[in-house]
Amino acid sequence: MTKKIAIIGAGMAGITAARTLLKAGHSVTVFEKSRGAGGRMSTRETSWGSFDHGVQYFTVRDPRFETAIREVPGTEEICRPWSVNAVRVLDELGRVIEAPLPAREKHYVAVPAMNALVKHWAQPLVDQHMVHYSTEVKRLESSEAQSSSRTWTLHTKQGEKDKEFVGFDSVLLAIPSPQCSALLEHSMLQKLIDPAITSDLQAIKHQVDLVVIEPCWTLMVAYPQASEQGLTHFGPQWNAAKSTHHRITWVARESSKPGKSHIERWTVQAGPQWSHEHLEDDPERVKAKLLRAFAELTGIRVEPSHSAVHRWRYAKTLTPLGQNCLWAHEARIGTCGDWHIGHRVEDAFVSGLSLALLVC
Ligand SMILES: Cc1cc2nc3c(=O)[nH]c(=O)nc-3n(C[C@H](O)[C@H](O)[C@H](O)COP(=O)(O)OP(=O)(O)OC[C@H]3O[C@@H](n4cnc5c(N)ncnc54)[C@H](O)[C@@H]3O)c2cc1C
Repeated sequence: MTKKIAIIGAGMAGITAARTLLKAGHSVTVFEKSRGAGGRMSTRETSWGSFDHGVQYFTVRDPRFETAIREVPGTEEICRPWSVNAVRVLDELGRVIEAPLPAREKHYVAVPAMNALVKHWAQPLVDQHMVHYSTEVKRLESSEAQSSSRTWTLHTKQGEKDKEFVGFDSVLLAIPSPQCSALLEHSMLQKLIDPAITSDLQAIKHQVDLVVIEPCWTLMVAYPQASEQGLTHFGPQWNAAKSTHHRITWVARESSKPGKSHIERWTVQAGPQWSHEHLEDDPERVKAKLLRAFAELTGIRVEPSHSAVHRWRYAKTLTPLGQNCLWAHEARIGTCGDWHIGHRVEDAFVSGLSLALLVC
């Protein structure tokens, strides 16, 4: 029987779930608070070229993920190996303390930029008007069950406007665990949930609250002057490195990725502890500190033509839930996302797929 299913979040997990349910013959509607699909597989466009300021690369270990990349038309062309064999580990002063490992598996990026993969997979849903962008789900409301037909209403915000979407058989939350927890809590506090299923939601929230996700401050810098001087790039000869610097854990030459413009650009990620300690700091202060650390690590002391920071409140799962997804059969509400099993793109795919197969 065709069911009407609401999916909150258009990242890898949400779009994977939506595609699977659509294929199984259900009617799906995806709600996404930002202006496009991708979630943390995101891209920042600038006049100097794009930055993949969330996911840096992804692996293809799971056979179901590999099949999806091979079989969804147009996907293989989007997923390209990035030869980051030169990943090294640097100390506080940028000295190499660990040689690169021999490449055991390919590291993939999406072209022309990281958000292209999920955008491509979301396109058939967009074409069928099944995705509402710029639509933040603020509260969930369940009707009382009459016979077996409980339905869900989603209270959303589109810009300044409140809008309700009614009549869903099921709701899937494909959003980071703290946002999941807040949405469930808010809905229960406002007494919008049928008392008969409140304990189901409380049980889900209890599980979700066990998950720990760390933040990440990210710095993006561009040096168009490098190519103006007739150099392909300046600074180090490697393209990506992990680091033991007290501020920075990762640096990658954005312009070395396939499909990217050659203007010299770097993406820099602060470590989880430093990001946590400076989470509420003024972005300009954070930028200045990360720029200093970047210069120490790479030796690039030239003023960048462009620099910006982005704060990821929920970046990387530290403590996952340990099961692929959550599903409350009676309430017909479930959760998926990387944080159920790990911190990678593949985990989000597997989780979204698992939840959709349970709901089918
Ligand atoms: C800085 C950083 C670096 C990373 N590096 C890597 C890496 O190198 N390799 C790797 O494999 N993984 C990496 N990851 C992790 C990877 O991004 C995630 O595993 C994956 O993208 C998670 O997908 P998801 O669908 O579970 O969640 P998300 O991508 O977070 O998608 C959730 C979506 O829900 C939306 N949303 C949230 N609340 C609401 C609401 N109330 N209403 C409507 N929409 C809502 C959000 O806007 C978002 O689009 C990195 C993440 C970050 C932040």
